[in-house]
Amino acid sequence: MAAKLVNVTGVASERIHMDDRSWRSLWRLVGQALRIEAVDKRTATTTASTSEQDKVQAALPSFDALLPAIQAATVLLDGDGRVVAFNEAARTVAPGLQAGGLLQLAYRMPELVDAIGRAGKTHEPQRAEFVERVPVGRWFEAFVHPIRPPGSTGKGGELLLVTFNDLTPLRRMDQMRADFVANASHELRTPLAALLGFIETLQGPAKNDVGAREKFLTIMQQQATRMARLIDDLLSLSRIELNAHLQPNTTIELTPIVRQVVDGLMTLAHDREVAIKVAAPPEPLVVLGDRDELIRALENLVENALKYGAAGRRVDVTLARGQTRDGTAEARIVVRDFGPGIAPEHLPRLTERFYRVDVTDSRAQGGTGLGLALVKHVLNRHGGKLSIESTFGAGASFTMQLPLHSASATQRKSAVDSSA
Ligand code: ADP
Repeated sequence: MAAKLVNVTGVASERIHMDDRSWRSLWRLVGQALRIEAVDKRTATTTASTSEQDKVQAALPSFDALLPAIQAATVLLDGDGRVVAFNEAARTVAPGLQAGGLLQLAYRMPELVDAIGRAGKTHEPQRAEFVERVPVGRWFEAFVHPIRPPGSTGKGGELLLVTFNDLTPLRRMDQMRADFVANASHELRTPLAALLGFIETLQGPAKNDVGAREKFLTIMQQQATRMARLIDDLLSLSRIELNAHLQPNTTIELTPIVRQVVDGLMTLAHDREVAIKVAAPPEPLVVLGDRDELIRALENLVENALKYGAAGRRVDVTLARGQTRDGTAEARIVVRDFGPGIAPEHLPRLTERFYRVDVTDSRAQGGTGLGLALVKHVLNRHGGKLSIESTFGAGASFTMQLPLHSASATQRKSAVDSSA
């Protein structure tokens, strides 16, 4: 046992952190606990022989193996709240932890200190939830479990095992969900309120006013279309998210998609007096994709360019072959407009749901604030990405980057090789 103890402490000192005095007292307690636990098991199975009890005891995991094996941040305290031992994960919660030091000095969380005090007093497990405000908001719950080795009596015999759970991702998700529901209902409520208002007016004061009726019906149609579009975008987003883990596997040639999208938006381009110029390479660029989703994503970009960049009178849609930084072949579809562009502070947030540079402008254009979020999700699902560049006052360019299907990439490479 002594030889094992020396060996164990040697290994343990690399993985867990405690001072010599604490090690000695801890081992005394743990040894006692293991022996007594083995005795308890023996009592339970009265037929067990002495050698079987030894086996049970030998099979019980030694403490040094337990602490590093616990994934959650874990700290062991003595009865005075001093740190006896902790695992590496605990450092991510409280970087200032030191064996022998007081936990409340290394990690000043009043709720946790209270829970430790309560656990010490009541000898019952306690839970605490708290939030770290700086440097970034992090939410935690901590469980404080008193461990009294059987047979130990008096003050100082009890240890407190503190484990931490990081609740931050859950809290952020809750927050996002709440924001999303609030935004979606607000977006739906606005046109709905307008519709109800116009219906009331048409039933009352404007009942016999033919001119007003025509005008109001046009506005009502626009509002209803906006609501339908919002619901459509919300459903598309949730469907794409649902399938986010499934990579599309249909081979799709991109040139016909670009042409189809541009042809479909010619009427809008004409209305806005914008000329669309399309450029595509002679060779086919093939990706693995979902045709409808790719069309929807590109439509969003070209439509935005026609709506927000109309002042530039020109939109260029360019399909080209490119390469990622690590040399992988990719297809790039660049939608470039020459309108007012976007101020740099908005660029990082454009793909957030419901984020708009100018809400009134977006609403006037029939926008939902979901278009770019949808484009980003479609590209993520296709293993690609969206990049946005803009010089304020000089237009914007949105690039869809999609990994080329390897069969077509190989074909292209052999065509280049044979022509060399
Ligand atoms: P929306 O439905 O409002 O168009 P999007 O997610 O498609 O939502 O776009 C978000 C915001 O990004 C738009 O409201 C607009 O302010 C800005 N935006 C998008 N494309 C352009 C562009 N080509 N030029 C200037 N601003 C743009």
